[in-house]
Amino acid sequence: MPVYEYYCEPCDGIFELVRTMREADEPGSCPLCDEDAQRVMPSTFNAFIMRGGFPRKIPDKGTYWHMGKEVSQLSRGGDPYTHPEIEAKKGNQTPPVSKQDFVDTVDKRREERRAKRERRRAELENKWHWKDKRGELVKRKGFRKS
Ligand SMILES: [Zn+2]
Repeated sequence: MPVYEYYCEPCDGIFELVRTMREADEPGSCPLCDEDAQRVMPSTFNAFIMRGGFPRKIPDKGTYWHMGKEVSQLSRGGDPYTHPEIEAKKGNQTPPVSKQDFVDTVDKRREERRAKRERRRAELENKWHWKDKRGELVKRKGFRKS
């Protein structure tokens, strides 16, 4: 069954419910206050509430959100766009391929293919011997005197 998001006005928060499509548009009861909450459109980045000045998501697991990622501690000072927990996780992973690297790889492969085509053409032209009246290459063997 699909997951739907509901907005609870008293809590000013969004929660998720797993329901059938038929039930999706009926109000869902909030896990915090039991009030009816209306369905809202899916919104990964909006599914936060502000509590104590920090974005949290309900049902509240005591976690926080940083740039759409779940973290257990608030970032203290420093760059507001980075978070120690997220940076630590990044350190364990191979860095994602940057767009520039990707473009470079594509360009390099294209260049390799082009070079290969050129070599192949040169090989063929060595085998081929003569151009006919239409400028088409005629095979050495197929060359007819007329
Ligand atoms: Zn509520």
